[in-house]
Amino acid sequence: MQKGNIGVTTENIFPVIKKFLYSDHEIFLREIVSNAVDATQKLRTLASKGELKEEAGDLTVRVSVDKKAGTLTVSDRGIGMTAEEIDKYINQIAFSGANDFLDKYKDDANAIIGHFGLGFYSSFMVSNKVEIVTKSWQEGAKAVRWTCDGSPEFTIEDADRDSRGTDIIMHLDDDCKEFLEEPKVEELLRKYCHFLPIAVAFGKKKEWKDGKQVETDEDNVINDTTPLWTRKPSELKDEDYKKFYRELYPMSDEPLFWIHLNVDYPFNLTGILYFPKVKSNFDLQKNKIQLYCNQVFVTDSVEGIVPDFLTLLHGVIDSPDIPLNVSRSYLQSDSNVKKISTYISKKVSDRLASLFKNDRKDFEQKWDDIKIFIHYGMLSEPDFYDKAKTFALLKDTEGKFYTYDEYKTLTEGQQTDKDGNLIYLYAQNRDDQYSYIQAAQAKGYNVLLMDGELDTAMCGKFEEKMEKTRFVRVDSDTIDRLIPKKDEKHDELEADKRDLLQQVFQTQMPKMEKTEFHVEAQPMGETAAPVIITQSEYMRRMKDMARIQPGMSFYGEMPDMMNVVLNSDHKLVRTVLDESEKAVSEAVKPIDAEIAGLTARRDSINQQNKDLKWDEIPQERKDDLSKTEKDIEDQRQKKTALIADYAKDNKVVHQLIDLALLQNGLLRGEALNRFVQRSIELI
Ligand code: ADP
Repeated sequence: MQKGNIGVTTENIFPVIKKFLYSDHEIFLREIVSNAVDATQKLRTLASKGELKEEAGDLTVRVSVDKKAGTLTVSDRGIGMTAEEIDKYINQIAFSGANDFLDKYKDDANAIIGHFGLGFYSSFMVSNKVEIVTKSWQEGAKAVRWTCDGSPEFTIEDADRDSRGTDIIMHLDDDCKEFLEEPKVEELLRKYCHFLPIAVAFGKKKEWKDGKQVETDEDNVINDTTPLWTRKPSELKDEDYKKFYRELYPMSDEPLFWIHLNVDYPFNLTGILYFPKVKSNFDLQKNKIQLYCNQVFVTDSVEGIVPDFLTLLHGVIDSPDIPLNVSRSYLQSDSNVKKISTYISKKVSDRLASLFKNDRKDFEQKWDDIKIFIHYGMLSEPDFYDKAKTFALLKDTEGKFYTYDEYKTLTEGQQTDKDGNLIYLYAQNRDDQYSYIQAAQAKGYNVLLMDGELDTAMCGKFEEKMEKTRFVRVDSDTIDRLIPKKDEKHDELEADKRDLLQQVFQTQMPKMEKTEFHVEAQPMGETAAPVIITQSEYMRRMKDMARIQPGMSFYGEMPDMMNVVLNSDHKLVRTVLDESEKAVSEAVKPIDAEIAGLTARRDSINQQNKDLKWDEIPQERKDDLSKTEKDIEDQRQKKTALIADYAKDNKVVHQLIDLALLQNGLLRGEALNRFVQRSIELI
């Protein structure tokens, strides 16, 4: 028997392994099993070159637990090691500059393991003693046993072992006994070793017999050694891709389509990305893509490696060229990673472009499901925007699809305003904004349906990218003002009539929480609706954005500002005006005269004060001014109260207001009930 110290230049690596790597310690199993797989693949290569004198035989890597002994063992039939090789590969680990490095990456197990080639030593994260029993493939090699109890001391001695290969026997720490539980070990193997290229068996398959679980003769192989992404796309059918998807995400709906990635220059990368079918945005999840390195699972956090918007996709990426043993921030600046990210983004846009070109109908059918990904990409990646603008679609309220260019051509003639801006009209809900859509269509306008989560943000993006283009929701103004054409002449009401009409309605608007109504009268033509409620595009869009973007809550808190536009050309509105005039003019006349007198008085006081500073004005006059202003206000209120008193019993006014509210989904509860009652009475 021989004794020695492991070649660690720093004091002792073991406490570091145990302490700092604790959070990630389950990856020891990945490291040990991948070593076994590597050794087996090397053996296969030797065998294929005819250098192996014996039969290769069954090459399955076997993982087993022995609860009594408290050990977890990984056995392979790979190339094994001679005593010299153990010395070279296991004992002499070059830990130069170890202290500095450990300081820097003490929280990142992957980085430490990678840097030191520490794969094998990660077994000490969970073990108080590790044994290697191994016999090299070389003729006449002797079996050896290496033992180390977690101090720098190891022993090496002859061992009994007939067959070629290696057993790694881990004597688990007391606080790591969970790795003796079969379900736990199986779970880890399925997570990390699911697609390793050599069969890995964990015990035997079990079956139910006479009400009991009994072992069969069949190995419980936990991996798929030739996962789909390693195979040639030309050999694969749609069903294969769907089946593989089900294997990866058993709970998900069928994917919409997929992209098989396959590059070997200037970097190596294979993989399959799936566009998932999401039923609601609730299903949208980042980090469903699994990252592999030569079929060894590394992580499902691909941020920094694939462009942000593609982290919403599903699938696998396998690349030995992604430097995994570094910190995330380093990753983002790595030139290989940048190339990979650009490549993936380009692949995705190419694929989308060809889907669009080859089968536009099918692409249109999928559009509603994929637009969230495309819009996210267009909003976050300028390069992607430039590619996507050729195949991204706009859908109108009739369900017709257009490319951006097609839509521009379609609307240019009708929807360009007097200043040369092209106005894109849109609705966010076909039912809620039905009457406005109708009115726009009657004018010969087309209305887009923008009902996606990111559509409001896309409106802003379009306006930024396309010159002289504005997006306006159909109900954000009256039809004539949505797309202002040459200044048209209309019969405006005289000022006092307009004031009266506005007051009649304004005083009867319902009180609603977080909603303010502003009434104005405007000639809109005899055939237009008598009363229309509109909401400013700017405010509404800000409020929409506030919902999806943090930091804009200020807008979210503002009340909804509604414009109530009275069509002074409409017969019913005219009648209301005439009747109101008849009913209140006698009573209003003296008040108006009073207001006129007071206003004249106020103006004359102001005239006297015109060139004086505030403290040069005599107190008397100041008092006079404020009293006059208060009197004006009082008279105005008196007038308003008078009009309100009249209007409150005018059923037509209430009916018109309620109809307009109803059309906007604003009439609810008691108010709705009153409306129904009144309607019945009127019939
Ligand atoms: P790495 O795998 O990154 O080289 P490890 O510490 O995991 O680092 O392993 C060191 C070396 O020990 C390997 O390169 C290999 O030569 C040898 N080795 C480890 N496990 C086995 C095994 N199961 N069979 C044969 N050789 C092994």
